[in-house]
Amino acid sequence: MKGKQYQLKCGAPTRRSNGTKSCKYLAGEGTDHLGYGHCMYHSKRSECEAWRLAQDIAREQQISPWEALLWGVRVSAGRLAWVELQLEDAIRRNELNGGEPDSPAVRSWLKESRLSLALMSRTSKAAIDAGIAAHVARQLEVEGRLLAGALDAALGALPELTADQRIAAISAAQQTLFSDSITDGS
Ligand SMILES: [Zn+2]
Repeated sequence: MKGKQYQLKCGAPTRRSNGTKSCKYLAGEGTDHLGYGHCMYHSKRSECEAWRLAQDIAREQQISPWEALLWGVRVSAGRLAWVELQLEDAIRRNELNGGEPDSPAVRSWLKESRLSLALMSRTSKAAIDAGIAAHVARQLEVEGRLLAGALDAALGALPELTADQRIAAISAAQQTLFSDSITDGS
């Protein structure tokens, strides 16, 4: 649990500032996806659709809409991989039996494979339209700021530390953060 909540902003670069400043509206302000993604001025139709889908899944699965987007990609990728295995298997069995190149089983798995691929494209596109890459980058930035603040407070509470001890503490913290971000790929 985090002690402090940061209110996410829309964050889109504003045209008036020529892209040097970012929009200060709240994430999803004035849209039907308040709290997520861009505000009503910067949210494209495809993004709104992505959030609608994410919110539906989120309600069903009782997870956050961000998790829902990633969940959709993961499930559809898993499904595609499984269908591809079945297809390979059907082709191999067909060859062993010396059958026609496209038996009904092969044809039906080919169809499944195309459907799974289409599903995965849709879920990936939804995640991209919702701005998943920017979100992950922002999340890391917020966490970095939180960590820097906590570290500052911790070192501030220990004024008698020598410079060497301070550097050792900071590098230990950095090392922990770095190894966590590598192993935490879930
Ligand atoms: Zn905005």
